[in-house]
Amino acid sequence: MPRFRSILDTVPAYKPGKAVVAPDGRSYKLSSNESPYEPLPSVVEAVARAAGEINRYPDPGAVRLIEALAAKYGVPEEHVAVGAGSVAVTQQLLEAVGEPGAEVLYAWRAFEAYPLLTALAGATAVEVPLVDETHDLEAMADAVTPLTRLVLVCNPNNPTGTANRRAEIERFLDRVPGDVLVVLDEAYREYVRDADVPDGLAFYRERPNVAVLRTFSKAYGLAGLRVGYLIGHEPVAAAVRKTLLPFAVNHLAQIAAVASLQAEDELLERVETVVKERTRVREALLSQGWQVPPTEANFVWLRLGDRTVEFAEACAGVGVAVRPFPGEGARVSIGDPESNDAFLAAAEAFRGR
Ligand code: PMP
Repeated sequence: MPRFRSILDTVPAYKPGKAVVAPDGRSYKLSSNESPYEPLPSVVEAVARAAGEINRYPDPGAVRLIEALAAKYGVPEEHVAVGAGSVAVTQQLLEAVGEPGAEVLYAWRAFEAYPLLTALAGATAVEVPLVDETHDLEAMADAVTPLTRLVLVCNPNNPTGTANRRAEIERFLDRVPGDVLVVLDEAYREYVRDADVPDGLAFYRERPNVAVLRTFSKAYGLAGLRVGYLIGHEPVAAAVRKTLLPFAVNHLAQIAAVASLQAEDELLERVETVVKERTRVREALLSQGWQVPPTEANFVWLRLGDRTVEFAEACAGVGVAVRPFPGEGARVSIGDPESNDAFLAAAEAFRGR
């Protein structure tokens, strides 16, 4: 029998959101926080043109993409590092800090990949419970020890959609020693509308131990191509470059990401529509009698406790795929209006049971 690291026995496989199909053929996928829009024609054309070049390896340094990101944010190119999705950048960060004894601190529940990647990197996870579905940053600061190497702050938080405010993050950062890397995972930044929820880049600009993680998977609609990036000071970005699997960000992904930055205005208009739909969905749920925490992301969170699986099954029965976290609740992405209506009808029917 081949032998593997014993940690693999304890690490569950990542469970992606699945699509479901109702008996009448209807199918609404609200389980992966994707963009509900088809890619922009300009992006598709750029990818189609680049398809003729895939006999060559991609640019290992993703130079054009990094130039475009550095220009967008007004940061040095050396402060930008990319990976095959921001989940891969998270893995690269964990590879960079993970060794026996190293502690990685994050709130729980947050993004599901954190515990898996921490365990695989051989580091020790320190999980601090959410309070009111929100990061408890005071308790997180209390949990920092001399062994803490990395703190992951998911803002807005997946799966609850809640976000931490400027003053509390500032206070938290003041309490964390400068040799601890704090990564603000802002996969959903483009959907934030509350002016008190800060752009993490403001903290990065002032503090060498703060970095920001973003993705092309959500607002930019490129989930299928896998591009994410980190903005951090030179030693942090360098660590992420060193732990990048060679050629991990493929040619079509790089081309699509650059084309998306060029079409940013159009993409951000779409985000605006999703944000309006988010307001509509949340208000409808509240008026149905659900408790839904305020959300700054492209999804809502329903606290369902023991009824979570039953709820997800009821939604699946009418073709609506949601993301259940058994015993806790369900995360439901904001989709196009038709999908959102189908979900709202399923939610209302469930309440009437
Ligand atoms: N961070 C958070 C908080 C997420 O929710 C996700 C996607 N579910 C990711 C990172 C990873 O996104 P990607 O790898 O597609 O960039």
